[in-house]
Amino acid sequence: MKTIAVVLLALSARLAAQDTAQAPAADPVAQLVARLDLERYKATIKGLTQFGDRRQGTARNRAAVDWIEQQLRSYGCSDVSRITYDFQPEVRQGVRTVRDTTRAAGGGRYRGIRAPTGVNTDSLRQPDAKLRALDAEQSTPGQRQEVYCTKIGTTHPDEMYIVGGHMDGIGWGEAANDDGSGTALVMELARVFSSPDVRTDRSIRFALWNNEETGLNGSQAYVTQRQALQGKEDPPGSGKYPEPKWLGMIQHDMMMFDHGMPRADGSLSPEQRPEADVNIEFQSSAKFADGAQHLAWVFQTANEKYATDYPASVSAHMTNTDSRPFQDVVPAISLRENERGTQIGAGWDPNWHQPTDRYATYNDKDFRLGLNAAQTTLAAIAQLVGATLK
Ligand SMILES: [Zn+2]
Repeated sequence: MKTIAVVLLALSARLAAQDTAQAPAADPVAQLVARLDLERYKATIKGLTQFGDRRQGTARNRAAVDWIEQQLRSYGCSDVSRITYDFQPEVRQGVRTVRDTTRAAGGGRYRGIRAPTGVNTDSLRQPDAKLRALDAEQSTPGQRQEVYCTKIGTTHPDEMYIVGGHMDGIGWGEAANDDGSGTALVMELARVFSSPDVRTDRSIRFALWNNEETGLNGSQAYVTQRQALQGKEDPPGSGKYPEPKWLGMIQHDMMMFDHGMPRADGSLSPEQRPEADVNIEFQSSAKFADGAQHLAWVFQTANEKYATDYPASVSAHMTNTDSRPFQDVVPAISLRENERGTQIGAGWDPNWHQPTDRYATYNDKDFRLGLNAAQTTLAAIAQLVGATLK
C-alpha cells in the first residue's frame, strides 16, 4: 500500500510539473488581480476615516476630496480633474408621500425577519469625544466639488467604462463601510491600472462622487454636465477626448458587511456569514436593462474565475445608488455587500448611517469581502478594456 501511495504521489507531482510547463503565458488579468492586497485596501479605508464621516458641505469633506486627489496623483493616474456644482438642499413641503412598505425600494420583495433602519442624527450617540468633535461641523449649502481621474486607452481613447464610489457619509461615525469601502476600492483600482507597465485598449474613469447621501446629487451633476460631451475630440485633431463615450457605469457602495438576516430579536451575527457574497445588481426597469444585465453576468463570471474567497450573485433591483442617474443613458450596475432594497433595506447592516460605522468595527473577514468585490471589478474591467502587461 505504501509503495502504491509513493508511486501515486510521484505521478501526481510529475503531472503537476507538466501542467506548469505547458501553462500558457501568464494571464495578465490574474497578474493584475494579484496586485490588489488586503492590507493596502484596509490602509486606504483607514486613510479616508481620518476625515470622520466626510459629510458634504463641510471642511472635513473638502479636506477628504483634496486627500483623494493627492492619492490619485501619487498613483500616476492621468487627467485628474474636478466637477464643480452647486448644492442647495430641497425644502421639504408639508405633504409626505407614503410608500408601500410591503415592497422593497427598487421593486424587490422582502423575505423573513426585518429590523428597523434609519439615519442617526444625535451627536451624543457617538461615545468617542474626539470623533464627535471631528464630525461636529454642520453642512452649509453652496459650491461642491468631486474628483475623478482616467486610465487612457491606447487604441480607443474615445471610449470608457466609469467605475465609481461615493466619498461623503453621514451618521456621526467614520463612514468606513458607507462608503469608505467603495471609495477605497475605486482608488485601489486606479492605482493598479495606472501602473506604467499596464496598457489598455479602452479608457477607464475612476470617479469619487460627493453628495450621494443627499440624493445622488454628485453623480447627477456629472451626468448633467458631461453627457453631451461624450466622444468629442477636443481640441479637434488632438487625439484627446475629455469625455470618452460611456460604455458602462459600475457603482460600489457598502462592500464589507454580510452577516446575514437579523435574528428574531433584531440582533445580527457578529461574524461574516460563511455564505457571504458580492451582490451585483441591475435595474430591470432601466432603459438599458438588457445591456446592464449582460454587464452584470460579465462581472459574475469574472468573480467566478478570479475572486479568491467570496462568490457573486446577480439580481434585478438596483436602487438608491450613484448608478441610478446613468441607468437610462448607458448600461449601469452596482456592486454591494447585500441587495440594497430587500436586504440592507430590511436591516441587514446595523452600522448603516450609524455612529458604529467605524474602521475598528470591522474584522478581516469583512475587509476581505470588499477586497473580493475589488478583485471582481478589476478582473471584469481588465477584460472589457483589453488590459495587457508590458
Ligand atoms: Zn452609500
